[in-house]
Amino acid sequence: MVKARKYVVKKAFEGLPKREDFEIVEYELPSLKNGEILVKVEWVSVDPYMRAYSTQFSIPYDQFGYQVGLVEDSKDPKFPVGTKVVSHKGWCDYVIIDTNEVDPFCSVYKLPEIKGFSDSLGVGAVGMPGAAAYFGLMDICKPKAGETVVVTGAAGAVGSLVGQIAKIKGCKVIGFAGSEEKLKWLEEIGFDKAINYKGANLSAALKEAAPKGVDCYFDNVGGELSSIIINQMNDFGRVAVCGSSSSYNEDPSKTPKASILQPALVFKQLKIEGFLTWRWLYRQSDAHTELIKWIQSGELKPREHIYEGFENIYDAFLGILKGENVGKAVVKL
Ligand code: NAP
Repeated sequence: MVKARKYVVKKAFEGLPKREDFEIVEYELPSLKNGEILVKVEWVSVDPYMRAYSTQFSIPYDQFGYQVGLVEDSKDPKFPVGTKVVSHKGWCDYVIIDTNEVDPFCSVYKLPEIKGFSDSLGVGAVGMPGAAAYFGLMDICKPKAGETVVVTGAAGAVGSLVGQIAKIKGCKVIGFAGSEEKLKWLEEIGFDKAINYKGANLSAALKEAAPKGVDCYFDNVGGELSSIIINQMNDFGRVAVCGSSSSYNEDPSKTPKASILQPALVFKQLKIEGFLTWRWLYRQSDAHTELIKWIQSGELKPREHIYEGFENIYDAFLGILKGENVGKAVVKL
């Protein structure tokens, strides 16, 4: 009998999630049935959507999330013992997966081969955040060489990839992030300018960085910062709305207000489109193939913020909500 542990959310989050909102539950896993695999989890992901989606689940619920693990026992010849797999089975240390189960977030699949790099990229640059950055930028913003691309949440999992992909595509890239350490790293990896959004006069700072205006905006945070950026867009600019980190921990009845966007949308004839990465699930491996190629050629440098230990998954989660992470936050079990 294998003993497993998992995080269960037992109280709805109010503001920043608290440790007491979770309970770590220990239980024994049953024997495998045909079509099932036993996975020892090696890497667990913490992501902002875990906060944003929390209101859609009834309490109590098992904390969902991406993970990379090793098949330790198998009753499915497609996933023999020793296979590395990616699934959306959440914050647990061992799990039984029915390989025929269809999961709208992602059904279990084999970890793509990323020779010479950590398996943890399977929940980051070569996982869901990688696909979000790739498709949000390439399918919605459609940047052309020479254009100016702005990305917020720029030093995070998605934003840092968006900026680097836009550089590979020959664009000028400006990123907004929340600390001097993050700005320094963004300029090291090729961003033309990084701006601290906690500073003063952001509109003037952006005007100076993008004197010819903004063609593409990849929006990870929403709020007033997005209004400032959208108001400096050029005719026929494109905005991909990926998330709204600035509001996730706010009381839903008092979400922040931002300046009106309609005049800029109309007079500049802008296109603004929200997306969910699952839209491209059927093409996800195409994005991963391209991202792996750039990572292996050294054109794209994925950075990870690594936390360690099952007990520390909560701290890692809180860390991303408070802006502690530089690059993709992952937990090594
Ligand atoms: P992340 O950027 O690695 O981590 C979250 C970051 O948000 C923090 O590091 C922090 O950086 C920033 N942040 C926190 N509070 C903020 C605030 N009040 N205002 C501005 N920034 C704040 O997370 P990620 O995984 O890359 O996700 C980025 C965004 O994309 C999130 O909104 C997420 O929900 C969204 N997303 C959407 C999809 C989709 O399918 N649509 C897929 C993946 C991710 P600073 O220090 O810079 O503040």
